[in-house]
Amino acid sequence: MIKFDKVNKVYPNGLHALKNVSLEINQGEFVAIIGLSGAGKSTLLRTINRMHDISEGSLIVNGQEIKNLKGKDLRTFRRKVGMVFQNFNLFPNMTVLDNITLAPMRLKKLSKEEANKKAEGLLDRVGLLDKKDSYPSQLSGGQKQRIAIARALAMEPDMMLFDEPTSALDPEMVKEVLDVIKELAKE
Ligand code: ADP
Ligand code: MG
Repeated sequence: MIKFDKVNKVYPNGLHALKNVSLEINQGEFVAIIGLSGAGKSTLLRTINRMHDISEGSLIVNGQEIKNLKGKDLRTFRRKVGMVFQNFNLFPNMTVLDNITLAPMRLKKLSKEEANKKAEGLLDRVGLLDKKDSYPSQLSGGQKQRIAIARALAMEPDMMLFDEPTSALDPEMVKEVLDVIKELAKE
């Protein structure tokens, strides 16, 4: 599913963030990356969905070398890789339901009815169906993160990347988000 072979990443300012990283992750595996702040965890994750280019080495994701992907091929590839960030990145001016249906309607060309139905199923799964018409500002951090997870899942990704998904949460909200992630991992 994911294969790093001697991957190096040097940022434009010269900072050498990934040094000869080799790593293989198979389908169905659930992997956690642990390291000090600044160790390169976010950089590593962001190379997997090509938010960042790599400088050297080979990176195969979903059976495809992604190093030189461009244009339409890159956009198609990215749809298959779900990502959840520390700070949720929900669209503040849209309801929960619209946050989730936007990408499936635009990119997968689902009708509004299809997209809504699917979003409601996902909201039910993360325990937030009653919040579908709320705006992000009306939700707790834990709820926002569960919505962000549902939004990523709505694109039916082949893999999900989580970059410190609970580190911005108050301690009492960490469990509800981890429980959702654990359920996903089991599936
Ligand atoms: P982590 O997620 O493990 O805390 P990062 O991947 O964010 O680490 O950062 C790894 C190193 O790369 C750090 O030294 C950081 O300062 C540097 N870095 C991150 N992003 C950039 C960037 N856009 N330009 C230059 N250096 C960066
Ligand atoms: Mg980080």
